[in-house]
Amino acid sequence: MPNQASKADHRPIRTCVVCKAKREKAELLSFFLLEGGLVIDLAGKLQTRMNYVCSGGDCLGGLDKWKLRYKKKLKVTKAKPSGEPKK
Ligand SMILES: [Zn+2]
Repeated sequence: MPNQASKADHRPIRTCVVCKAKREKAELLSFFLLEGGLVIDLAGKLQTRMNYVCSGGDCLGGLDKWKLRYKKKLKVTKAKPSGEPKK
């Protein structure tokens, strides 16, 4: 029986948003999207919900497509459930 949950060797695994590959966090670039554009968290210190992309290869180039999809998703999530605008 394979011991998949070995706690002694626990490393955070994240998924690249472009190629969906699962990698160790250290192999990925973390970033998030602001209204104005994409911010890459080089220092890895930002306390926000991050997305991850492979730091090499074609994935960075694939981010443009991903951004478009993501923005569409954001619009959906941001839509207010009740139609009451607050001032
Ligand atoms: Zn990737």
